[in-house]
Amino acid sequence: MSDKLFHRLTLIGIGLIGSSIARGARLHGIAQTIVISDASPKALTRAEELALGDVYEPNPAAAVTGADCVILCAPVGSFAILAEQIAPALAPGAILSDVGSTKQSVIRDVGPFVPAFVHFVPGHPIAGTEFSGPDAGLADLFQGRWCLLTPPPGTDEDSVKKIETLWQTLGALTAKMDAAHHDRVTAIVSHLPHLIAFTICGTADDLADETRQEVLQFAASGFRDFTRIAASDPVMWRDIFTNNKDALLEMFSRFSEDAQAMARAVRWGDTDYIEDKINRSRKIRQSLIDIKQA
Ligand code: NAP
Repeated sequence: MSDKLFHRLTLIGIGLIGSSIARGARLHGIAQTIVISDASPKALTRAEELALGDVYEPNPAAAVTGADCVILCAPVGSFAILAEQIAPALAPGAILSDVGSTKQSVIRDVGPFVPAFVHFVPGHPIAGTEFSGPDAGLADLFQGRWCLLTPPPGTDEDSVKKIETLWQTLGALTAKMDAAHHDRVTAIVSHLPHLIAFTICGTADDLADETRQEVLQFAASGFRDFTRIAASDPVMWRDIFTNNKDALLEMFSRFSEDAQAMARAVRWGDTDYIEDKINRSRKIRQSLIDIKQA
């Protein structure tokens, strides 16, 4: 009998997050066999060149056959079709998890296909970079970062514990929460900042040619930071925005009211208001540094 957490771990989607799990799983001896599947033949070949797993299988149903843990690491917009494809091949007692950035949509899209004998434990590691693909992964990407689990009520406790152990072994801190709450929290801490970054880069790009050249040439750190966030994968973010629409639009509406209030303060020279807002922001930054999440 192996002392590994999993006998056969299947990762579907071997981009930044999938390949980081593969690297960490190998480093920490989490699974006896790591099976890798990806819809992109190029990504699958590259994963093999990098020796990220033991088995490389383009067909998702074949990839999950015999696995005791399957983690969906593709963009969330592909999950419904993926779930339908793999469901008949999932083994009794297997754990099905994911890393998708939106959780109500994952439960909505995957849940109906999960056989009664499979344990479904949705998850979301709050870690990443602006890079994509199998080369971008890092074994320590999750070190000190949070992984939020949103198991639906009644989920098998042992399976939840195993997924917690997986993430903790990869260096992450884990917390459980309700999927709707998760989606509201991530809308403000991640999805809205990305929406703003994509928009500000678009606005700069729409400026007249001469000004646009100067934007690039003299980019101050504020704009540079936005361009880093805006360099993220378009398919992944398209799927996140459309699959967390309600929470994102609610946070956007609150943000635009606050941005209008700031613009009004600038127009009327309300320096107290401006200073107060900046001081509150600095406190938030300091709190992040204090809890080592900066
Ligand atoms: P990524 O680097 O773009 O990799 C995704 C991989 O999945 C690509 O190789 C893609 O192939 C493949 N893929 C697409 N559709 C597929 C399908 N139907 N079946 C199998 N493979 C498929 O993306 P990522 O950054 O690792 O993100 C993956 C997931 O993690 C997403 O659900 C995202 O929401 C979540 N997440 C991302 C971050 C982050 O910061 N990046 C953080 C936390 C969670 P193609 O290139 O051909 O499309």
